[in-house]
Amino acid sequence: MKREFREMLNQRGRKTLPNVLLAAAECAPLSKTGGLADVVGTLPKSLARLGIDARVITPYHRVIKEKYAAQVQHLFYFFVDLGWRHEYVGIEKLELDGVIIYLVDSERYFGDKIYRGGYDEIEQYAFFCRAVLNAIPNLGFTPDVVHCNDWHTAMIPMLARTQYHGAMQENMRFLLTIHNIAFQGKCGFDFVQDLLGVDAKYYTAEFMELYGCANFLKAGCVFAHKINTVSPSYAWEIRTPYFSEGLDGILNARANDLSGIINGIDKQVFNPKTDAKIPARFDRGHLKGKAQCKAALQQRLGLEVRADVPLFAMVTRMTEQKGFDLVTCALDELMSHEDMQFALLGSGDARFENFMRGAEARYKGRLCAYIGYNEELSHLYYAGSDFFLMPSRFEPCGLSQMLAMRYGSLPIVRETGGLRDTVTPYNKYTGEGDGFSFANYDAWELREAVRRALDCWKDEGVMRALVNNAMQADFGFEISAQEYAKLYICML
Ligand code: ADP
Repeated sequence: MKREFREMLNQRGRKTLPNVLLAAAECAPLSKTGGLADVVGTLPKSLARLGIDARVITPYHRVIKEKYAAQVQHLFYFFVDLGWRHEYVGIEKLELDGVIIYLVDSERYFGDKIYRGGYDEIEQYAFFCRAVLNAIPNLGFTPDVVHCNDWHTAMIPMLARTQYHGAMQENMRFLLTIHNIAFQGKCGFDFVQDLLGVDAKYYTAEFMELYGCANFLKAGCVFAHKINTVSPSYAWEIRTPYFSEGLDGILNARANDLSGIINGIDKQVFNPKTDAKIPARFDRGHLKGKAQCKAALQQRLGLEVRADVPLFAMVTRMTEQKGFDLVTCALDELMSHEDMQFALLGSGDARFENFMRGAEARYKGRLCAYIGYNEELSHLYYAGSDFFLMPSRFEPCGLSQMLAMRYGSLPIVRETGGLRDTVTPYNKYTGEGDGFSFANYDAWELREAVRRALDCWKDEGVMRALVNNAMQADFGFEISAQEYAKLYICML
């Protein structure tokens, strides 16, 4: 055990590290729609290396059943009541890469989509919260800390602390991680009352009411012992009205219990030295392979194959969050004045997809918009590009900029959330930095940041140093895991 952990434990009169149960709607590689799954899938492995027994509990979604049914072991079953509904809950167990994952089985709630949307989704995850709490005493594993993630599991602390008097669930400690505050789980209170039997006295602004709705995430913020988000900057941003989506009041009230821990990336999957998904491997100081990747990307996308032109890339969901308003304002101005290429891989809002299709037609051979999701190709985008654009309006953490840096593509980002915490802007006086940034959500500022990047492109020495710095940055999960370990210990 690390000395730091032992000292922290001693202060709390404890000798052993805490057991942790991570509750989440998705967990990679079993089920994944976003970054949450990566965190839930990777964190327990890194915690195990620190000596912490961390297990996961997640729905037994259909996508998991289709692929892993043969490896799953049935543990036990019971029934839960959600208002008039009397529902079967199966608890299955799966061991993956040394991590124990409990799967909550219900054909009714997890037989199709991971997220059903609207009130159906509220019911899906109200069921999940209840099933998790009722399963805990029989798992044969007693968690000291239950680590909840996003609104889908945010009712767990409230239910445990208000409805399980004298039971083991009441005395456990609860951590709530907010991966994206834009999603809160809102519905009419009568529905929550019906599903979960929540007492009407909790439907006030002090507890779970927000702007006339019952709000799962707010309930989590009120009842969890600690709250964290996925970057230090996002942790203070969400205390302001601009970012908080209405939750700044409660988050300011809980400011002493709120912190930010940056996510990490899987350094084994994303490693330019060994990556089989790119045509040539490369490393810091040995960048010949990167030039080959660039030529391969240009060829694949129908761009002119030229080493001397800077290639800008984006791999992203095409939404307002990701700064597409700025891209649509600045792109024509950039493409018509600068000798540059632009490659996009993404899908999302129709208006942005259509804009990019139009731009592709206007700048044939210089701009390619690949509309769709392609995991394999994304590696080539990171490896083959010189610059990576991520002008997000808000960004809780962001993984893409870290992946770009790992593959020597210099990020150009807006200074918000995790982007601010992971990218050090180039300082031409000191030579420090590993990317470029701008402060305000303004297309001219984005254009200026691109211009600064283009200035550097003209200086081979500066580019080499910047690429070297970017590839040197360490975004492994080990650092995040240590921070989580300390947070769990200080909750005991
Ligand atoms: P968010 O989770 O908000 O979408 P992140 O930057 O945290 O943004 O993570 C996005 C992840 O999804 C990255 O691993 C990125 O490579 C991947 N990704 C996004 N869009 C695509 C796409 N169209 N094709 C392949 N991978 C994508």
